[in-house]
Formats: sequence, C-alpha cells, structure tokens
Amino acid sequence: MATIELQDISMVFGLNGSNHEALNKVCLHIREGEFISLIGPSGCGKSTIIDVVSGLRAPTTGRVLIDDQPVTGPGTDRGTVFQDYSLFPWMTAFENLRFAIEHANGKRDPDSFDAEAERFLKLVGLEKFRNAYPNTLSGGMRQRISIARMFSLDPKVFLMDEPFGALDSLNRIYMQDLLLRLWTRGEKRKTVLFVTHDVDEALLLSDRIAIMSPSPGRIKEVIEIPFERP
Ligand code: ADP
Ligand code: ADP
Repeated sequence: MATIELQDISMVFGLNGSNHEALNKVCLHIREGEFISLIGPSGCGKSTIIDVVSGLRAPTTGRVLIDDQPVTGPGTDRGTVFQDYSLFPWMTAFENLRFAIEHANGKRDPDSFDAEAERFLKLVGLEKFRNAYPNTLSGGMRQRISIARMFSLDPKVFLMDEPFGALDSLNRIYMQDLLLRLWTRGEKRKTVLFVTHDVDEALLLSDRIAIMSPSPGRIKEVIEIPFERP
C-alpha cells in the first residue's frame, strides 16, 4: 500500500536577504491508489510539493509520511517525472532507461535489463531514437523518456510535475491513456500526485483535485470528481 500524508508543510526560501514563503501549512491526505492533481497559478508551490514528497527537498517545517513512515530522502518507493526531465546528458535514450532499471531496488534479473529498457522505449514510441542523446531530441521526446523511465521502475507512488506539458495533443492523449493503464496495472493501484496547468486533464485523470493559491502557497480546496472515467 502507499498512502501519502502531508502534515503542515511550510517552505521558506531565503531570497536576496528576504524570506519568501512558498508553502504555508499545506495538509493533504492521499489515499492508497488515489490519483490527485494539483492545480493553481504559476508560483503557488506545486513543484515545491513534488520536490518535498520526492525527498529531494526538506520542508522548513512539517513532514511527509509515506505509509506512515517519515520521508527523509529519495526512495525507490517513489518515482518522479520532473519538469526538467532530469535525464543524464551523456547517456543515450536507451542508456538512460537501462541505467535506471539496473540501479533500481528489487529482484531484477540482469539478463532482462536490456529487454526492459527496449520495451519501455517502445511503449512511448521512441524505439527509433534508442541511440540518440537527450540534447538531440525535442522537449516532448525527452519528456517521454523521463516518463518511460518512471514507468519502467514500477514504483508504488507516481510523482509527476507537468509531465505532458511539452507534448503535442496526439502524444498527450496517448500518454494520458498509457498513464491510466499503468496506474491500475498489478494488484494495487499506484498512488499518484500529478501537477498540471490543464483543468481538462485534471478532470479526465483525477479522483480528486487540490486547488492551490499563491503567496503564500496553500491548498484552498480539494474537490472530488463526481464522475467515472471513460
Ligand atoms: P513552473 O512555474 O512552471 O512550475 P518555475 O519556473 O517556477 O516552474 O520553476 C522551475 C524551477 O526553478 C524549479 O525547480 C524551481 O525550484 C526553480 N525556481 C523557481 N523560482 C526560483 C527562484 N526564485 N530561485 C531559484 N530557483 C527557482
Ligand atoms: P509552481 O510549481 O506552482 O509554479 P514552485 O513550487 O516552482 O511553484 O515555486 C513556488 C514559489 O517558490 C515561487 O514563488 C518560486 O519563485 C519560489 N521558489 C521555488 N524554488 C525556489 C528556490 N529554489 N529558491 C527560491 N525560491 C524558490
């Protein structure tokens, strides 16, 4: 199981000698297998929440619990798609995936690393670009590699920061569909925290939507989506 609990998360950034409160006492309980989207204007703290839950940034005060355990750093229970894709520039598309699969925890068979990397490249339609380096690919292609990497690791929790923002509409529809399929793959649904600017996308994908406001960043309201997915 994987529940996520944000307990009174505040984040203060020191900027030019003054303090900026990016998050103010953010509380959110995400149920096991739930898909939650964060929406809100630029600067309201969405990316900061992803960073804190991923364990890359410690909050100024408050804490995050995953399955009732405090987050103290990154872990293989969580997979993250960052806004900047975070691919290794000196590795090809294939090598980026293979490296992640090889270094993931769990009982993985070394003979399967290559095949798994190929399979996930294919799943996002990039098998022809297996030997391309990230800086020779478009933003959308890099984004798809970063998403494929997270899917290939099969974590319990998906943390996704505007993962489809650089995609054209056909690719976006394909990737949204793929996400919904992989979300429900296996015995247990993944728990998903998803940042988007696109309200339609949030309505399509989410169980609940958390609406944020800036200065300081807060969750104003959490709404339940009252209809079934197509
Ligand atoms: P978006 O608004 O699309 O979510 P931003 O441009 O706000 O993206 O942030 C992109 C990255 O830059 C994030 O990793 C964030 O942590 C960092 N960042 C944003 N604002 C600042 C700042 N004032 N100083 C340093 N880093 C920042
Ligand atoms: P969003 O993702 O909703 O656009 P962010 O989480 O990127 O918002 O940023 C929230 C606020 O914190 C913004 O005002 C941003 O400029 C500021 N911020 C983010 N990262 C940093 C940083 N590393 N240093 C200073 N300020 C930051």
